[in-house]
Amino acid sequence: MSTYRLSGILKAQREVFRHYYDPPSTASRNRLLSYWKKELQTIERILREARVLEQDLNANSRCALFNLNGLVALHFQEAHPYVNMYRRIERIIPHHFPSRKPVLVLQLSPSQHLRHRLRIQNGKIYLQLSVQVLELSDDYPPAITEYLILRAQKRPVPPELKAQIARLEKSFSPPPGATVPERVSPIQLQPRGRFFNLEEIFRQLNRDYFQNTLALPHLGWTQRFSRRRLGFYDSQRNLLNISRILDHPAIPRFVVEGILFHEMLHMVYPIRIQNGRRVVHGKEFKEAEKHFSKHRELQHWLKNELPRLLGQTYKRKRSIP
Ligand SMILES: [Zn+2]
Repeated sequence: MSTYRLSGILKAQREVFRHYYDPPSTASRNRLLSYWKKELQTIERILREARVLEQDLNANSRCALFNLNGLVALHFQEAHPYVNMYRRIERIIPHHFPSRKPVLVLQLSPSQHLRHRLRIQNGKIYLQLSVQVLELSDDYPPAITEYLILRAQKRPVPPELKAQIARLEKSFSPPPGATVPERVSPIQLQPRGRFFNLEEIFRQLNRDYFQNTLALPHLGWTQRFSRRRLGFYDSQRNLLNISRILDHPAIPRFVVEGILFHEMLHMVYPIRIQNGRRVVHGKEFKEAEKHFSKHRELQHWLKNELPRLLGQTYKRKRSIP
C-alpha cells in the first residue's frame, strides 16, 4: 500500500496562510476561511469514504492538512491541538517584544527530527516547528520558541531554558526508518510482538470482560515507537493498534492489557457527537474503564513509571533492543 499525497494541498497551505495574515480586508479573510472550512470538510469526507487514514497520507500532506485545519479552528475559535499549541506559544511572546507584539504565524513542518525554524519579519514571527513536537510535552513548543526568539534577537539564552529544553527533548528519538512516513495497512499489522502477543491478550480480555462478544479486529503493533499515543482504534477500518513502545520486557503485562482493554472499549462505545462536540471518552466509557481489574495500578503506572522508563530505557535509542 502506498502513501497518499493530496494534490495541491501544499500550494493551498501557502496561499491560505499568506492571505490570512495579509488580507486585503477583514471581509475577504472571513470569506477565505469560511470557504476553507467547507473545503476541509469535503476533503475529510472524501478521505473517509476512500478509507484513507491520516497516517496513510505522506508527511507533507499530513502537515499541510493539520496546519489548515488548525488555522480554521483558530479563526473560528474551535478546539484543535494546533490552537492549544498556538495559544501556549503566544503567551511567551510579549516578554520578548516590549514595544509592539508581533503576530505569530505557526506551521508544523514534516521534519522527522526536532529541527525548527523561526524568522521575525514585518511585525510577524514565522515559526515552523517539526511535527514531532506532537510527540513531546505541551511545554516544549513554548520553550523552544522562546529559545529561537532569543537566538534570532542575538540575546543570551538562560541556562535554565537550555536545561528545560534538553529535559523535554530527552524522551525524543526519531522514528525508526528515519524519513519513511508511518503507514498502517491491515496486511502489515502484526499482533505477535517480540514479548507480547496482542491476539492472545485480546482473546483473554474478550473472554474476561466482554463475554466473547467482540470480533477480532485488524490487530497489531504500530511500526513507529509512538510515546504519545499508546493505543488507537479506527472504527472505519476496524483497525486496532498498540504502540510498539509497549512491546518491551520492562513493561508489565497488565499495562499492555490495560491499554488494549481501553481500545477495546472504543469498539463498544463509538465516538458520538454531542452539542457539536466529539465525545470520545464519554461518561459510560469512563465507568466501563474502571472494570479493568488493575485500573488504579494502571493509572498509577502510566503516570509515574512510564515517564521514568521512557527517560531511561529509550534514551537516545532508535529502537528497542
Ligand atoms: Zn481512548
